[in-house]
Amino acid sequence: MRIAVCMKQVPAASEGNMDPETGVLIRTGLETVVNVYDLAALEAALRLKEAYGAEVHVFTMGPAKAEGVLREAFAMGADEGYLICDKAFAGADVLATSYTLKQAIECAGNYDLILCGRQTTDGDTAQVSGALAKWMDIAHVSWTAEITDISKDTVKVRYNMDNRMICAQVQLPCVISVEKDPFIPRMPSLKLKISGRKKEICTFSLQDLEDGDEENYGLKGSATRVRKIFPPQRTQRQELVSMDKEKAADYILQILDVAAREERI
Ligand SMILES: Cc1cc2nc3c(=O)[nH]c(=O)nc-3n(C[C@H](O)[C@H](O)[C@H](O)COP(=O)(O)OP(=O)(O)OC[C@H]3O[C@@H](n4cnc5c(N)ncnc54)[C@H](O)[C@@H]3O)c2cc1C
Repeated sequence: MRIAVCMKQVPAASEGNMDPETGVLIRTGLETVVNVYDLAALEAALRLKEAYGAEVHVFTMGPAKAEGVLREAFAMGADEGYLICDKAFAGADVLATSYTLKQAIECAGNYDLILCGRQTTDGDTAQVSGALAKWMDIAHVSWTAEITDISKDTVKVRYNMDNRMICAQVQLPCVISVEKDPFIPRMPSLKLKISGRKKEICTFSLQDLEDGDEENYGLKGSATRVRKIFPPQRTQRQELVSMDKEKAADYILQILDVAAREERI
């Protein structure tokens, strides 16, 4: 069995990294980490590797330094790493990101399972995995908490729908995005960390992909344009008051009434 895992490098800080003039995220000079949800996806893949003897291949799209994601994945037990890196891929939205991932995954071969994290901590749309499945024309399951019973053609999953857990049998190949908590990532192994430093990484640039048309990638291939991005204004008010309980009840009702009227306006 071959499993592809999509992992993204994200800024370590979630705030204070926007250009106030242009409203664009400033990524240069920022400390970066592996998206925490994607470590869970890798952990899920490694558990399947242990149970079924799979090969685990990691794909990351980003600048050259996103190679760090692959090195970290090797230290946890991933077998192969693919860096999808080209100036043409910059500024990609969900549509272009998922299309680029599809192109790279198909370029690397056939996979039985493609695992993603539930969402990233920067873009945070939680839409890439669904879009990837659509591009590949295969089934998609999100919010997955358990992956079991892999046979030649199917896999059983348990996923979370608000207050219900649903069990389903899904046709392979498929894309599964996983929840974070059921797949707490293992600690990297020192031995794998050392061997992973020298491991060869395969880089895909635009010219390596089957669709070499620049118009379908990055900003050019994106359907959305961010006009402005800004942190929300903090409107929280705090007040310390002291009164007896009857007066306190009236006081709270008054505040709620004002808040409700403001909301209506
Ligand atoms: C309002 C807004 C403004 C933005 N502005 C900018 C900007 O100015 N500059 C900029 O660079 N980006 C910007 N982005 C981010 C960019 O659009 C997203 O990073 C990109 O579309 C991927 O979507 P996501 O991060 O929401 O992934 P999600 O859908 O949240 O991710 C789900 C899963 O897909 C996989 N995945 C996602 N991305 C990758 C990847 N690159 N490589 C491998 N696997 C991946 C991972 O497994 C991940 O857990 C912005 C996003 C939004 C919503």
